[in-house]
Amino acid sequence: MPCNVTRRSFMGLCAAAAVVTLGVPFFGARVAHAAGEAEAFPMPPLPYPDTALEPAISARTISFHYGKHTAAYYANLNKAVAGTPMATMRLEDVVKSVAGDPAKAGLFNNAAQSWNHTFYWAGMKPGGGGTPPAKVADALKASFGSVEACIEQLSEAAKTQFASGWAWLAKGTENGKPVLKVMKTGNADNPMTQGLTPVLTIDVWEHAYYLDYQNKRPDYVKAFFEKLVNWDEVATRL
Ligand code: MN
Repeated sequence: MPCNVTRRSFMGLCAAAAVVTLGVPFFGARVAHAAGEAEAFPMPPLPYPDTALEPAISARTISFHYGKHTAAYYANLNKAVAGTPMATMRLEDVVKSVAGDPAKAGLFNNAAQSWNHTFYWAGMKPGGGGTPPAKVADALKASFGSVEACIEQLSEAAKTQFASGWAWLAKGTENGKPVLKVMKTGNADNPMTQGLTPVLTIDVWEHAYYLDYQNKRPDYVKAFFEKLVNWDEVATRL
């Protein structure tokens, strides 16, 4: 599996950037309709080979989680926006524009899950974990007192999110000052619908960990922070 993925192509979470990603070797992604028309939101390639996160996350988990689940969210999203003005919007704006509208719940779920998963994949790397760069460490200390305290709160959120959902580190403001917050959301929901900016996420849907950890979600969360989290990527999101 080639991994000639540029940051630009991977972060192309908007329709305009889709052009950039065409021609990039995809990992199980559909890039065009049968008619030959480009999809509004091609699924970005996985930013590492499918075996790269082993043993913390197996290639088998990735074959389903990226190759099937993530791909299905993008396929459903593209089907829903085809031929509509949303096809030319940024994915973030599609998510925010349909959030809370019961008539658009299906589109919201697929748009948000597409965004959430791409954000999740980029938030991990082979040989991740370890000490965050100073920029991240300073920000975590300012909001939580220490890096360890932040990881503890995020781990707790990930372990206690009931059923399917996500744990997040998100940027917001408090008394006019920037602050980082830990949150958890159910199903497809994302802090951006509450005016916050996500900086890290952990997928705690069972499909993210069940093949490797079965019911032991805490072991998956531990592995996420010890072996997978990409603090350099978090630094670019602060
Ligand atoms: Mn997932």
